[in-house]
Amino acid sequence: MSARRVVVVGGGLAGVSAALTLADAGAEVTLLERRQRLGGLTWSFQRNGLSFDNGQHVFLRCCTAYLRFLDRIGARHAVHLQSRLDIPVLSPDGTRASITRGSLRAPLHLAPALARYRHLTVGERLRLAWPAFALSRLNPEDPWLDTVTFGSWLSRHGQSDVAIDRLWNLIALPTLNVQASEASLALAVKVFRTGLLDQADAGDVGWSNVPLTVLHGEYAGRALERSGVEIVLGARVQRVSEQADGGFEVVTDERSYSADAVVVTTPPEVAQRILPEGVLPPELGLGQSPIVNVHLVLDRPVTDLPLAAVVSSPIQFFFDRTASSGLRSGQCLSISLSAADDYIAQSSSQLVGTFFAALQALLPVARTARLIDGVVTRERAATFRATPGTAARRPRSRTSRPGLFLAGAWCDTGWPATMEGAVLSGESAAHAIAEDAARSTLQLERVAP
Ligand SMILES: Cc1cc2nc3c(=O)[nH]c(=O)nc-3n(C[C@H](O)[C@H](O)[C@H](O)COP(=O)(O)OP(=O)(O)OC[C@H]3O[C@@H](n4cnc5c(N)ncnc54)[C@H](O)[C@@H]3O)c2cc1C
Repeated sequence: MSARRVVVVGGGLAGVSAALTLADAGAEVTLLERRQRLGGLTWSFQRNGLSFDNGQHVFLRCCTAYLRFLDRIGARHAVHLQSRLDIPVLSPDGTRASITRGSLRAPLHLAPALARYRHLTVGERLRLAWPAFALSRLNPEDPWLDTVTFGSWLSRHGQSDVAIDRLWNLIALPTLNVQASEASLALAVKVFRTGLLDQADAGDVGWSNVPLTVLHGEYAGRALERSGVEIVLGARVQRVSEQADGGFEVVTDERSYSADAVVVTTPPEVAQRILPEGVLPPELGLGQSPIVNVHLVLDRPVTDLPLAAVVSSPIQFFFDRTASSGLRSGQCLSISLSAADDYIAQSSSQLVGTFFAALQALLPVARTARLIDGVVTRERAATFRATPGTAARRPRSRTSRPGLFLAGAWCDTGWPATMEGAVLSGESAAHAIAEDAARSTLQLERVAP
């Protein structure tokens, strides 16, 4: 890339990935982040000497852009990736099953686990094969798929409400952040095909062993510095304006920056406000879906599972965060609640009470445990609402204005709002800038005598 000045607005995963990719391509990059930290929607805080994440984040082995990003920032050693997919699925009545993969080729690798899936009747288990094979033949880019809900499609493929609740929603909820009954079939196909059905090892689950602010903030910050990216924290961008010379002026509360190209990676409502008129439609209609996490600090260990999904309980998933929280004795469990519309407005004491009781109903040992602390984290706009119709509303990284690019998990990545989508979108904006720069250099060379 010829030396071009690029300003990246926003220091979440999309912004950091765009900035690093641009710096690697030889651009002179300034990254402006409103907060005093990097990492965007992935962050941590301290309370009583312990570290809590704003919400449990997991990824899958198929999240290759995210894994590449971890390599690029030197943080791969700080995450754990299962060598073989294994999600224990518990119920308060003591029934236990697991979603795990066997040695058969995809998509048959899941068949033995589903045949033994004791949360469904034998008849319900047999009926899983039809939608599983049908899903693996659907193309997520087929526009028709974004006109119907995953739930209605599952019902048409022989799935009872119980099967949807006790199996399909276990995957749909944490990945799409809406119930199957509300989710776009297109996004569900993307998740189920890429994440589970197309390749046997795609769904192995990974998570951070360190607080998210360390993983995506500190490691990313050091990588950006090593690459020569100028990082300006506490820089709230008010507007991006086009200049007569074809460049841009990016104005913060403090000063302005001039740039040949700009990548805006903020949430959509901020992008709409700061971008020149007409770049985005006034109503994007992507909606928002909340995630709530209830973190319970207990005086003793109550489970030896690193994670589990739960059926017939208000608990959806729990994760053992003892080591990453810094707790020396006892156990810290984070209960992650996706599509948390019913919980977002409830008080912390109510949520802690409900979920400690649910944990005690689930795990007999928890009945003898004392609750040392209960912390609730709420993210109202955790993701866009992955409902039918969203595919056409998600913008591409290249806008109608040359030099002006968008990135963010809400952009058109094919993925629901995930870390993988965020990183992909940042890379894609950076590659588009590099392509434009290469083209203009070529044109200059052609006109040169
Ligand atoms: C609780 C929770 C749990 C989740 N769980 C998972 C999970 O398990 N797996 C998964 O893959 N994904 C998960 N996600 C989604 C994932 O975190 C996001 O999709 C991803 O982090 C979004 O990154 P981004 O860079 O697109 O956006 P953001 O992280 O929103 O980054 C945008 C950045 O822009 C900055 N900004 C805003 N306005 C301005 C301004 N005016 N000037 C300058 N900067 C500005 C913001 O401060 C922010 O840093 C979860 C999200 C939440 C909230």
